[in-house]
Amino acid sequence: MQSFDRIYRSTILGVAGNKTVENLVRSRAWSVAQRFVAGEQLADAVRAVEELERRGIHGILDLLGEMVTSEQEANTFTENILAIFDAMEGRELPIYVSIKLSQIGQDITLPGGENLGLRNARRILARARALNAFVALDMEDHPRVDITLEQFRTLATEFPGTVGTVLQAYLYRTEADRKALDDLKPNLRIVKGAYLEPETVAYPSKTDVDMNYRRLVYAHLKAGNYTCVASHDERIIEDVKLFAEKSGIPRSQFEFQLLYGIRRDLQQKLADEGYTVRAYIPYGRDWYAYFSRRIAERPANVSFVLRGMLKG
Ligand SMILES: Cc1cc2nc3c(=O)[nH]c(=O)nc-3n(C[C@H](O)[C@H](O)[C@H](O)COP(=O)(O)OP(=O)(O)OC[C@H]3O[C@@H](n4cnc5c(N)ncnc54)[C@H](O)[C@@H]3O)c2cc1C
Repeated sequence: MQSFDRIYRSTILGVAGNKTVENLVRSRAWSVAQRFVAGEQLADAVRAVEELERRGIHGILDLLGEMVTSEQEANTFTENILAIFDAMEGRELPIYVSIKLSQIGQDITLPGGENLGLRNARRILARARALNAFVALDMEDHPRVDITLEQFRTLATEFPGTVGTVLQAYLYRTEADRKALDDLKPNLRIVKGAYLEPETVAYPSKTDVDMNYRRLVYAHLKAGNYTCVASHDERIIEDVKLFAEKSGIPRSQFEFQLLYGIRRDLQQKLADEGYTVRAYIPYGRDWYAYFSRRIAERPANVSFVLRGMLKG
């Protein structure tokens, strides 16, 4: 039987895929989207990083955009991502960027067979390494997991300590993927997963996803690896704290990551308790897909959007 969460998520993401709905939301919901998105410009995002830093929370800069199909657009995204490093250089703040490989050309093969996403990722990572910055490769929908993990392996070997990636607890395959990466001692962000996935590949029940989430975090920590616990789930966060304490895992081996605008109180509480906390700060004009996923995560967000659209 399908759970309410799953039916709700598939309804919202299904409706969000409709062009008329997209146009309507794009034109009327920007004021609401601003709760989750720092702004359309890089300067807005840098300002958000500085504001969070003043409260003891680090930022993860994320230029919105995904599933790019033209070479020119992928190269433009790459230039715009490189511009993040220019904007952050010299500010004496940690530089941490998240990218989607589909945004910089993962779907494009160049004449001669080179993957454009991999080529552009190398450019980004070379710049990141020179600045002692860190880049996380976000995980997208399930057909991209194989290629993303394969490209992560290549990049992690070429740029050790500069790149990490993400594993999603809703996929059945993820524990096997985690184990297979273990030789790299990877920096992994563990998330529940934000895409609409079929039951053939992903747990349909939230209880199973939550259980798998804990299992993955504990296993990755136990294996001695740096773990980014990316969730707003307070029960999971409390369990991870306890697990780390009981297992003698130092706070320097993990951090909590949350999304900009979501559970700001919890972000502050964790930072005040002395944990490393990073907020993922999306910005840019392509906010619609990201925004739809945030709405699909929480039924209460729909009324918030509708109210905002009626006002706007
Ligand atoms: C830093 C970071 C990076 C991420 N990167 C990826 C990625 O690369 N790939 C990917 O598939 N997913 C990614 N995600 C999204 C993730 O997969 C989940 O969809 C998202 O975090 C919601 O799950 P949750 O763990 O917070 O738990 P849930 O069980 O969904 O939520 C727990 C509680 O958090 C709060 N909450 C959660 N979502 C919202 C929301 N949208 N609005 C308001 N409150 C909310 C509510 O209080 C809710 O009860 C990322 C998440 C974070 C925090």
